[in-house]
Amino acid sequence: MVAPPKPQQPPSALLPELLAALPRGRVLTDPDVVERYRHDEAEWAEHGRPLAVVRPESTAEVASVVRACAAHHVPVVTRGAGTGLSGGANAVDGCVVLSTERMRAIVEIDPGERLAVVQPGVVNDDLRTTAAARGLWYPPDPASAPWSTIGGNVATNAGGLCCVKYGVTRDYVLALEVVTAAGEVVRVGRRTAKGVAGYDLVGLLVGSEGTLGVITEVTVRLRPLRAAPTRTVVGFFDSLAACGRAVAGVTARGLEPSAFELIDRHCLAAVNEWKHAGLPQNAAALLLARTDLPEPAAEVEATAIREEFEGADATEALMSTDAVEAEALFDARRLAYPALEQRGDAILTEDVCLPRGRLAAMLQRVAEIGAHHDVLVANIAHAGDGNLHPLLITPHGDDAARRRAQAAFAEIVDSAIDLGGTVTGEHGVGLLKRDGMRRELGPAVLALHRAVKQALDPAGILNPGKVVG
Ligand SMILES: Cc1cc2nc3c(=O)[nH]c(=O)nc-3n(C[C@H](O)[C@H](O)[C@H](O)COP(=O)(O)OP(=O)(O)OC[C@H]3O[C@@H](n4cnc5c(N)ncnc54)[C@H](O)[C@@H]3O)c2cc1C
Repeated sequence: MVAPPKPQQPPSALLPELLAALPRGRVLTDPDVVERYRHDEAEWAEHGRPLAVVRPESTAEVASVVRACAAHHVPVVTRGAGTGLSGGANAVDGCVVLSTERMRAIVEIDPGERLAVVQPGVVNDDLRTTAAARGLWYPPDPASAPWSTIGGNVATNAGGLCCVKYGVTRDYVLALEVVTAAGEVVRVGRRTAKGVAGYDLVGLLVGSEGTLGVITEVTVRLRPLRAAPTRTVVGFFDSLAACGRAVAGVTARGLEPSAFELIDRHCLAAVNEWKHAGLPQNAAALLLARTDLPEPAAEVEATAIREEFEGADATEALMSTDAVEAEALFDARRLAYPALEQRGDAILTEDVCLPRGRLAAMLQRVAEIGAHHDVLVANIAHAGDGNLHPLLITPHGDDAARRRAQAAFAEIVDSAIDLGGTVTGEHGVGLLKRDGMRRELGPAVLALHRAVKQALDPAGILNPGKVVG
């Protein structure tokens, strides 16, 4: 087990060194300002009070900060945009929060090699827009793409709507520049299309949630810009389990929609309330599938998807070529979480991922667990990936409801493991899924994880308490 860092002096002894290492205004200690950096979107996970927030602009500045923290045994919690949903960016007491918000340069777009090099604080949508202007496409598109950073996406191995067909963040990371726990700058990976020299350290760092190094530059693979998807299929279902059967049917038939999402009645109602969107909210849930094949293959694929929806007892299944109408439904899917937040309730977000053949059983269990614990559970999902986001909703300040939601959360995690799934498909372990991860991995594999952590961060200063902590 990695020992937690033991400061040998009061952590405040570090402050003069941070102030000397960074220009004026980039070390924040005002409690009101620091407050904004204490936690990510996982408001239920514990979070401490940082000693300071630092906002470096260059790799050299990041290295200076980490070296100073290492010398003082002070923890470093790296933070992108703070949109994480597992508490990964939550501060620990006395730590330095290292915000990448000023590291926003798109360093290079190389159309010849089809790659981009960016600083970690670049917002996902900004990279996608800049690449598109050069005829290129960066596919990973988490629903948080307007806010979340490429560094955060890499550190969590973020998924998104396109991932069902085009893969997750890991599939696009070619190389990383990283500041190690000792404050040394290293580069891992390559710019070539292929390469197998040495262990896959890029793969190890992707999804490491700030526990193995601070990512200071990312080289990503790009694809040629694709034509806009042409056809959308919308299925209306009376039960979540029927949605699960439809997803399994589409997959088993070998179809490859370019996005395949689920949104339930509660989420549609919340988006309607917030945006006056006029979306249908009579069915228990909708499935949205999209094809980006060229015609006439698009029509063939969309027709086959509609047949699978009908075969799984959809009350209605419609095929649309109206891009505006389709985008409104996909926007509703992206806006579901903030729309529920607008209502002022507390939300605990699950991220379990199931084999697609087990989705119907899992969705049924989620409904039963919610009813058993008397907790309102809304559902969105990257359905085509089997990645469910049951959202456990309780009124703020209702401690009894909160405890019931926590019990339901643990039971959903257990059920996913029982059904051959995993505790987190894309949001990461952070704080909220540490127990579930232990159950999923077992002692021998957990020991391997701890050995890796010990090798890369022997003093345990990088994001302590998260993932394996
Ligand atoms: C409305 C909404 C929709 C979402 N939709 C999706 C979705 O579709 N798919 C998905 O995967 N997630 C989704 N998320 C979760 C979240 O947006 C992702 O996990 C995202 O990748 C986090 O990026 P961030 O910049 O906000 O990182 P943060 O939340 O700031 O940090 C996340 C983790 O990465 C670490 N980290 C951040 N930057 C670095 C760095 N430079 N070096 C090392 N470690 C670092 C942090 O320490 C932390 O552990 C959603 C969240 C919201 C609020």
